[in-house]
Amino acid sequence: MGGAQSRNILGKPYARGIVFNEPLIFERSRAGRNGCDVAKSPFEQKEISAGFAKGTLREDFTGFVEVSEPSAVRHFTRLSQWNYGVDSNFYPLGSCTMKYNPKVNEAVARLAGFTGLHPLQDEATAQGALRVIYELEKYLCDIVGMHSASLQPAAGAQGELTGLMLIHAYLKDKGNARKKVILPDSSHGTNPASAALCEYSTVPLASGTDGLIDCSALEKLMDEETAALMVTNPNTLGMFEKNIKRVCEIVHAKGGLVYADGANLNAILGKTRFGDMGVDVCHMNLHKTFSTPHGGGGPGSGPVLAKDFLAPYMPAPRVVLADGRYKLEHNPPKSVGALNAFYGNFGVYLRAYVYLLSVGGEGLGDISDAAVLNANYILSRLKGHYHVPYDGPCMHECVLSDKFQKDAHVSTLDIAKSLIDRGFHPPTIYFPLIVKGAMMIEPTESESLETMDTFVDAMVDIAEVAKTHPLSLAEAPVLAKMRRLDETQAVRNPDLRHKP
Ligand SMILES: *Cc1c(COP(=O)(O)O)cnc(C)c1O
Repeated sequence: MGGAQSRNILGKPYARGIVFNEPLIFERSRAGRNGCDVAKSPFEQKEISAGFAKGTLREDFTGFVEVSEPSAVRHFTRLSQWNYGVDSNFYPLGSCTMKYNPKVNEAVARLAGFTGLHPLQDEATAQGALRVIYELEKYLCDIVGMHSASLQPAAGAQGELTGLMLIHAYLKDKGNARKKVILPDSSHGTNPASAALCEYSTVPLASGTDGLIDCSALEKLMDEETAALMVTNPNTLGMFEKNIKRVCEIVHAKGGLVYADGANLNAILGKTRFGDMGVDVCHMNLHKTFSTPHGGGGPGSGPVLAKDFLAPYMPAPRVVLADGRYKLEHNPPKSVGALNAFYGNFGVYLRAYVYLLSVGGEGLGDISDAAVLNANYILSRLKGHYHVPYDGPCMHECVLSDKFQKDAHVSTLDIAKSLIDRGFHPPTIYFPLIVKGAMMIEPTESESLETMDTFVDAMVDIAEVAKTHPLSLAEAPVLAKMRRLDETQAVRNPDLRHKP
């Protein structure tokens, strides 16, 4: 591999150096090794087994790892170095909003006054925490133009399910819960899954040639057995559904409701609101838009927000304010019930709350300005090198394809793997499904011009190599710790056990 690929735009080296191999910690184990010897305490020793029933304490420790302290530290440090995250480099995973999360939010989420709370303690002693929940719900309602919110869903997909449960409960109260949910083919993959989980059958709606919802096709599909339309706006092509008001009118005319997937809210923050568009219920992802690290399967939060006629159905418990005190309402009569233990993932709320307070109402528009500007910068620099299936300005992300590289037998997968050799996490690939060989790039608002330029240079370099040495890309990655994995084998026949 040439030196050029190991230099960034400023001529400085990147992404090369020492990567350690590391076995399982059990393989480092040697009988008799241990971390450190602790001097005998001068204080009286309590019998730790006191109070535990016989048989509940483990007496046999065979097979436990025995390593020295430096071995343990190196083991975990090396494993941590195999991680790629937003804190190490650009992470252009479209639709996932892998943006930088300010560390002050982490500091607040770790304050002992919050981490020491117990979910069952008397609400009179947890007024501050309840206030955070209450106020955050209000702020978020304001941001999307809704009247009622519940922070309880633990992820975007669970927010979708909750939203559909609200729709189901409301329509059922009116006499008919209905059977179907319409989903544009540009909607996020979790949308049809959530509809199916709520026992609705899913009706696909083909996008128009402009990549947007085709209103006349929707008019034909919409009927009085359809409970809702689920729309992702901006859609997964990174395009704003500009006919959204008309779309809502068509659905409402037949007594259906409109659900908006707002997981990618950083595209429209401070610019436009779902409530004003005519949408009835939506969710957002605090772990994408409002500063919680995600991607590793850690705690998330996908609040559901709705117009006032859906408020009685919101999950319980609810935090209410009465006589200047925050209280919990456990059993509102029409509630769909609890979707999560207690109040959901409280640490995520704290991060979102602090993030919102530090950004301020005015700052919201700056977030979407930067997110949209950055995506358009990348799109305009890569146009010409890569095929752009739907032309025109994009929102927070842009979608390219491998059409120009196809004749040289270079695929989206080769391009993605070649980015790894150039020090970048690949973008989202082969999604959205309506674009063959899709590459979905989302730079987010938190990336600098220099970082984006380094990424674009790497993408342009790959496009050039695809013309001159296409076969070399089929080998990628060659500089990563692991070579290309057999993904088909991994899916069909997963082997989750380590074999020495
Ligand atoms: C990420 C995302 C979701 C799902 O969110 P999870 O928290 O991963 O469940 C849904 N819709 C869109 C548009 C998304 O980008």
